[in-house]
Amino acid sequence: MIVTDFKKSFDTGKVLRLLGAAQGRRASGGSMRRIDTLAQDMPALLQPRISYRRFDIAAVSRGGIELDGGTRFKSPKLAKALARAEAVYCFVATVGPALEMEVQRRMQKRRYANAYVLDAMGSMSAENVVEQFYRRTARDLAESGRGVTLRFSPGYCDWPLDQQRPLFALFSDHPPLKVELSRSCLMSPRKSVSGLFGILPAGIPGAHPAYNPCSACSKRDCIARRSH
Ligand code: SF4
Repeated sequence: MIVTDFKKSFDTGKVLRLLGAAQGRRASGGSMRRIDTLAQDMPALLQPRISYRRFDIAAVSRGGIELDGGTRFKSPKLAKALARAEAVYCFVATVGPALEMEVQRRMQKRRYANAYVLDAMGSMSAENVVEQFYRRTARDLAESGRGVTLRFSPGYCDWPLDQQRPLFALFSDHPPLKVELSRSCLMSPRKSVSGLFGILPAGIPGAHPAYNPCSACSKRDCIARRSH
């Protein structure tokens, strides 16, 4: 299933965080003005879309999960977060190639600061596509009393980046939006996000469950950190 009706937006706070502004401290007026100026170019540079598929969970062990059909994902944190889930939504989202081409163009013109900030805004725009999809799904499921787990992406937490391969294989008969995976498991276009989240049966607390791996994680600079 492919969805394209997303707002072309990003979280300015997360862009500043990605650019290195310490959380809770004010960013410089120059940074804010640069983001405001570049934001005017963003709608023309973004083609947000997501491809997703639902799979039942066949088994959860301490080391990972197995989906119906045999795909296995190895990650103890993922297994713990999905212990009570009945199914997962696997997804690949992108904002397309136009933004990174514009970043390249500005680099060639030696407008390095603008290129750097635009690149960060592109990353957060791709992240925002997933966040909109996640919140929309959570809202829809809530109507029948069901919930969602936290979401995870290969390369974060203890889920190895090379698990992009089995994740992408789930879309092999359903090419995900012309997003390609390199031999080193990086996505092209770069402003793409892949991952999954669990679907919880009715009666189980979702969205902000008791188990959040970020609470005990020492990776302080992680841009995907979740807090309750
Ligand atoms: S901070 Fe959270 S999302 Fe980031 S690596 Fe740690 S557990 Fe994973």
